[in-house]
Amino acid sequence: MDIHEYQAKEVLANFGVAVPDGALAYSPEQATYRARELGGDRWVVKAQIHAGGRGKAGGVKVCDSDVEIQEATEGMFGQKMVTHQTGPEGKGIYRVYVEAAVPINREIYLGFVLDRSSQRVMIVASAEGGMEIEEISAEKPDSIVRATVEPAVGLREFQCRQIAFKLGIETGMIQQMVRTLQGCYRAFTELDATMVEINPLVVTTDNRVIALDAKMTFDDNALFRHPHVAELRDKSQEDPRESRAADRGLNYVGLDGNIGCIVNGAGLAMATMDTIKLARGEPANFLDIGGGATPERVAKAFRLVLSDTNVQAILVNIFAGINRCDWVAEGVVQAMKDVGVEVPVIVRLAGTNVEAGQKILAQSGLPIIRAATLNEAAERVVGAWRNDLSQGTKMGVAS
Ligand code: ADP
Ligand code: MG
Repeated sequence: MDIHEYQAKEVLANFGVAVPDGALAYSPEQATYRARELGGDRWVVKAQIHAGGRGKAGGVKVCDSDVEIQEATEGMFGQKMVTHQTGPEGKGIYRVYVEAAVPINREIYLGFVLDRSSQRVMIVASAEGGMEIEEISAEKPDSIVRATVEPAVGLREFQCRQIAFKLGIETGMIQQMVRTLQGCYRAFTELDATMVEINPLVVTTDNRVIALDAKMTFDDNALFRHPHVAELRDKSQEDPRESRAADRGLNYVGLDGNIGCIVNGAGLAMATMDTIKLARGEPANFLDIGGGATPERVAKAFRLVLSDTNVQAILVNIFAGINRCDWVAEGVVQAMKDVGVEVPVIVRLAGTNVEAGQKILAQSGLPIIRAATLNEAAERVVGAWRNDLSQGTKMGVAS
């Protein structure tokens, strides 16, 4: 789960990381009040979306007066902002952060990630802040400083000092750098984050080390341990199909194709998508309904897949171990009766109670196409989808 910049700053500030004074606004008027409350004579207004690259896209504006704040934020609220990280559809701006402008001397890149090969938290830093890490690694790879943290002892001060030296931080500011690095590391590990990125971390002209931007991503599977983090979720920034699935406890990733997939197990879901591709189709989603799926759960999965208007055929592929084919079949029948499915549905069942499942499908009187193997299922779903397209109808063929 991602959170907004202003939320990440609040989280990190609680761990001792220095951030500028700032306040959140939901309207241009509120943004001007916020600036007045903050005081000072220069502010930065920042569109809050779950993506970086806002500066270049016009989502970060320096303002010197009420009028400028009003104008800058009027141009932001309600707009979809497209940056190189949002994808072409962009992300809606519904919150703006008003922050005291900070006099920058140097910009540094600082990131904490999980490095799978060393199985450690890795710190990635560069004196070339302000650029994205992808650009830095392409253009200035030698500027990147890396360090891994031994989990049993945590991040030690000497390591932080080493990083600070390599970044060329002046002696008088090393202690601030140590505090920043340790604060990020503690936030990362104590809150089960998978990423903390401060880009830029700045050294100000008056010798303070401050996080000017902040991004955090959390491990979804650990959110139950951190209710105060879980409540920072902002669904307006997520793919609506994926938030609906998460609310229903289903594992769903939306894709661009037309063939909806309802599968149990992530491995089988991947294999199903590959086989659809082999048959020259395009999957519309990845959906793992998990083990022990009840008819209700299967019906929910159907509704979810069908809520994507790109879906023109559905493939249900179940290899039942913990699952039961008869329950899955009941779920399919229930969903088709309740939801009024107008696209061809292909079902391949194998494993526990497969005969009972097949019987339920056969006796339902519904136009369900059955397949014995995964290959056959993929061929048939792609065939049914193409057939449908060429006939210009939306109804499948009964088997
Ligand atoms: P993004 O990464 O989405 O482009 P940032 O928060 O990094 O957004 O802002 C882009 C740039 O704007 C920063 O690199 C920094 O130069 C400037 N900036 C951001 N916040 C402030 C601030 N409070 N004071 C001064 N400059 C800022
Ligand atoms: Mg940034």
